[in-house]
Order: sequence, then structure tokens, then C-alpha cells
Amino acid sequence: MSETPKTIVRRTPWPSSSSRAVVTPLQPSVVYASASPDALDDQYEGRAKGYTYAREGHPNADVLAAKIDGMEGASGGFILGSGMAAVTAAMLGCLKAGDHVLGGDQLYGRSMRMLSTELPRLGIETSLADPTDGAAMAAAIRPNTRMILIEVVSNPTLRVADVPAIAALCRDRDILLCVDNTFTTPRGFRPFDHGADIVLHSVTKLLAGHSDVTLGWIAARDAQVRAAMLGTAVTLGLTPSPFDCWLAERGLYSFELRYDRAEENAARLADAIAPLPGVKRVLYPMRPDHPDHNRAAHLLAGRGGNMVTFEIEGGRAQTNALVQAAQNIAFAPTLGDVGTTLSHPATSSHRALSPERRAQLGLGEGVFRVSVGVEPADLLIDEFRAAIAAARATA
Ligand SMILES: *Cc1c(COP(=O)(O)O)cnc(C)c1O
Repeated sequence: MSETPKTIVRRTPWPSSSSRAVVTPLQPSVVYASASPDALDDQYEGRAKGYTYAREGHPNADVLAAKIDGMEGASGGFILGSGMAAVTAAMLGCLKAGDHVLGGDQLYGRSMRMLSTELPRLGIETSLADPTDGAAMAAAIRPNTRMILIEVVSNPTLRVADVPAIAALCRDRDILLCVDNTFTTPRGFRPFDHGADIVLHSVTKLLAGHSDVTLGWIAARDAQVRAAMLGTAVTLGLTPSPFDCWLAERGLYSFELRYDRAEENAARLADAIAPLPGVKRVLYPMRPDHPDHNRAAHLLAGRGGNMVTFEIEGGRAQTNALVQAAQNIAFAPTLGDVGTTLSHPATSSHRALSPERRAQLGLGEGVFRVSVGVEPADLLIDEFRAAIAAARATA
């Protein structure tokens, strides 16, 4: 042990050890001391690698980013304070007043809000089109379209975007294709292999996997696009917490196991509840009755993911009864937790829409979305059977 400083105000040196820690250290330091002004100059000018101030980057974020880079086949990805911070970095880093962004028409609610409210306020034009229909996307392109933002699998109807057609459009017209890959994860789909220019994640969801951190990740194919997004993120302060990065890295070690198990459970659950009395329909991309089954089978290479959506007969009395009967399944508007969670679009993600618009999207009162976790499949199936029966027994 090195010498104890003469006042407690001085930092105590880290104990030396001839063995090394197996686990990534957690480094919460905001500031980094340099050896001299020359050394600091070298850092700022890029002649030497070094951290200076945590808003501009820190080791726990870099360790996490490198891991997700590897999964996505990306390089130079970086971590942000939330998935929405990643959406913000993409939009504000790459767009200026007068540009147009085209979005898929079933984006995550807050991404939708970004397009409907925040960007227009800054003079950026936005519009939406159906990403399952390449011709509809092509028709929505304007001379000033600079970016297209899509999700591969939509929430909660699990529609699959025509990524090849949209990527071809973007290539032909020099438009940046930005793909939010949160739902599919790199285990289900790797957008850079399919022509994406920018890929982003809400790491909060499946990647971290334990509902205890809020983080985002983003990467770009082009170094200039990356630099623009990073500069914007550092200036706007979209910084991730080192502890969150550390937790998310810890979560990633079990990601593949969790994902595969949850996916297997989801496929089994979908098939088990589809024939039950009181169930109007079940949506799961790998089921032959899914509207995008063929595209899913081809594009997602057989990976259906962990999300299942189903609709029961009846109204609020029945949906209340189902949630109350499903005592062990958290009724919570999130996804990707290690445990199964249940959400109800009509009262959560899609509550801002009119009942007519919800009906148009097929999101009536009876629709539930399940983010399937890693519990034993038989247990889950029994719990859902009982909850659906309880709903049906409600007058
Ligand atoms: C949750 C989510 C986001 C936003 O992520 P946060 O980490 O909550 O900010 C963006 N896109 C999709 C598809 C999501 O599910």
C-alpha cells in the first residue's frame, strides 16, 4: 500500500496489485489529470489517446460501445444517455433547417414526437410513410429529403419494414438511412449489412436487459457523419453515466443466452395462445399467419424475436381482468427485461392517438403486447392461459 496522504482531502492512491481484476473497473471520474500542458496538447490534437472530461468520453462508455460495435459489425460507435439521446444525436447531428426527414409511420412514440414536434420547431420538415411498402416510401421522398428513419420490426404490430427497397432508395438519392435496431437487436438483424448509414439502439431494452439503466448507442458508416453526431452529442450533453455503462456491459455478457431463450419462449407462447377461446389473433413474425411472414423469414433469417402481440375479445372489463389475473407478469410499458412484461398500447404507447386511428392501426382495447422473458416456457404458457380464461369469464 502506498503512503497515506497528509490530509484526507488528497486522493489516496489506488492500491497496487500484481494480479489484475477480472471484472471491468467502474470509473466514475469526471476529470482526468494530465502530466503537463504539452501532454494535454497532445491529447487534444489527437497525437496521444487520453480522457479529459467525462462528457467528452469515459472508459466505461468506450468498453460498452466497443462490445456493441462488435455485435453490429460497426466501428466507432458511442454511448449516449438514452435511446432518445441517440435519436437526437442522429437528427441534430446530421440535419439543418430546410432539410426533410421521412419516418416510418409506426416509430417508437417519442421518435414520433421528435418528428411531429421538435424538428418542425427547428425548421426541419418531416413526414411519415409506411415502411413495409417500398413504393409508398419512394413516393414520400422530397427533393430536400436528407434522412429516412425506420425501425425494422414495428411496435406493437410487429410489421417488418422493406429494408432492401428503402436502402436502395437511399443509395440512389444520397439519403442517410438511419435504422433504430432496438427491437430486432443485432442477433436478429444487422442493419449495416443491409445498407444502413446510421444504426442506433435503446440499450435500455434487450441489450442491457435488466430494466435498471437508461442508455443508447449509435454508429455511422461514414467517419464525417460519426464526427458530426458525436460533436452534437458532446455539446448537447447527451452523456451516459459510467455506472449505467458498467451495468449494461454486465448485462451484455448474458445477452445472447437471454435473447435465444426469450425468442424460443415467444414462439412457443404465440403458438400456445393462438388457438385459445377468446383470443382474436396473435401476431408473431415467424407464424405463417403474420402479414409480413415471408419478408420476416427472409430478412430476419428465421429470428422472430421476443415480442408477441395478441388481441382478446371484449372491452376494458376484460383487459382489466387479464392484467389482474396475470399477477406474476409486470404490467409495464417497457420491453426487453429478463422477465416477461405485458403492455397495453391503447392506454400506454398509443394513448395519444384517437380511438379511430388506433382502430386503423389494429390497436383496439383488446390488444396486448408481451415482451417475453427467460422464465420456463411452460410456466409462462400456464400463466397466460389462466389470464386469458379469467378475461373470458368476466362479464
Ligand atoms: C425505448 C425505445 C427507444 C427510446 O429509448 P430510451 O432508452 O427509452 O430513451 C427508442 N426506440 C425504440 C424502438 C424503443 O423501444
